Amino acid sequence: MTHTKLFIPGPVEVSKKTFAAFCKPMIGHRSGDFKKLYASIRPQLQQLFYTKQPVFLSTSSAWGVMEGSIRNLVAKKVLNCMCGAFSDKWLDVSKRCGKDAEALQVEWGQPIRPEQLDEKLAGGGFDAVTLIHNETSTGVMSPLREICEVMRKYPDVLLIVDSVSSFSAVPIPMDELGIDVLLTGSQKALALPPGLALFSVSENAFARAATMKDRGYYFDFIEFKKNQEQDMTPSTPSIGHIYALQSKLDDIFTEGLDARFARHERLNGLVADWVKRNGFEFFAAEGYRSKSLTCVKNNREIDVQALNTKLKERYHCVIDGGYGKIKGKTFRISNMGDETDQTISQLLGWLDDCLAQ
Ligand SMILES: *Cc1c(COP(=O)(O)O)cnc(C)c1O
Repeated sequence: MTHTKLFIPGPVEVSKKTFAAFCKPMIGHRSGDFKKLYASIRPQLQQLFYTKQPVFLSTSSAWGVMEGSIRNLVAKKVLNCMCGAFSDKWLDVSKRCGKDAEALQVEWGQPIRPEQLDEKLAGGGFDAVTLIHNETSTGVMSPLREICEVMRKYPDVLLIVDSVSSFSAVPIPMDELGIDVLLTGSQKALALPPGLALFSVSENAFARAATMKDRGYYFDFIEFKKNQEQDMTPSTPSIGHIYALQSKLDDIFTEGLDARFARHERLNGLVADWVKRNGFEFFAAEGYRSKSLTCVKNNREIDVQALNTKLKERYHCVIDGGYGKIKGKTFRISNMGDETDQTISQLLGWLDDCLAQ
């Protein structure tokens, strides 16, 4: 049976090897076998996060940890950096958690600029910042290193970074940059099935969390820490996901991190060449384009839905027709996960064909 292959920016295609690992027989989550499984992936997880801190596995999508970060860390006021659908939503989530929250809003397509952050933080009153590194809705990658430089001026303000669609596609050295929470989800750049979130927490963030009274249970960072010390998770995790992750980590380190980053950059370049060759433009501001997906401005005003229908019928794959308020005005092509020069070139050829007739 042929399935429809997803070139949307998440969920992405899951390999047969990953699925086989996902479907291994269950083990008890308090058993020695589980502890061995979790312990076996710890070094690779820490390497991938570029951290000495523990890496936690949450059976939830990324939003669970995004909300959890707010509940664990925001005592005074959070600054939510907003430049697209996911980052905009984080302000709403902060407010729903009953927190005092303020927006640093920039136009969709623009990145968060370090000087804008500096200006906001200079006003005082904040104790946490949320940032989406790679805003998947607009295809914008904000300048993380420069932003982290600004954060050093404000040591009492914790930085929470969502890397859902950039993690493992580009290097994000958590400890070196001084990130307090680095979180990601399973179904995007990692090419696992949806339903698992991974995150790591700095010492400063643990210290803050320990003082917070209403951090709840399911996403309590201190619970995660206590359990991780025993190679366990606070509640029953999705064990299939952890087997799949183990398999994926093997793939990643067999390929090598540098080769993996280079592959994403190269494939992203293939898509960019296609965009220019076909008279399209980029939605993201020049110099801030994502390396894991491309948000294409539909300046030719093509019928994106019709294009996608053709792609699906003829070639059993789909791209994304745009997200939120820029649906139809943009479309998005993912080069995340396991894509290769061959699969991306093939997709671009199919797009040419579907555009031609
Ligand atoms: C997809 C995505 C999310 C949300 O992930 P869920 O799995 O739906 O919780 C958050 N942030 C970014 C940048 C995303 O791309």
